[in-house]
Amino acid sequence: MTCVVRDIDKDIDIQARKIALQLQSLMAVVDFKYNRHEPCLVCNKKFMHHYDGLPCEDDNNVKDRAAFNNPINTKEKARKFLA
Ligand SMILES: [Zn+2]
Repeated sequence: MTCVVRDIDKDIDIQARKIALQLQSLMAVVDFKYNRHEPCLVCNKKFMHHYDGLPCEDDNNVKDRAAFNNPINTKEKARKFLA
């Protein structure tokens, strides 16, 4: 019985994590100008240190880093990656 409860808790944690990552991505797109210094929940690097200036969307898919000394900290730099 305790095992079943634990599995449900784990499922909830996994779903909660997914939602947290989706929210992080959404906020990063909506509020591009203000949250470039936020650390990503997945890799802990600032959003602007990701190649597209946006946080990782998936624990199993860490994004490549932005080029050294070239943070993606403006919408212009990220434009080619934003739909
Ligand atoms: Zn990341």
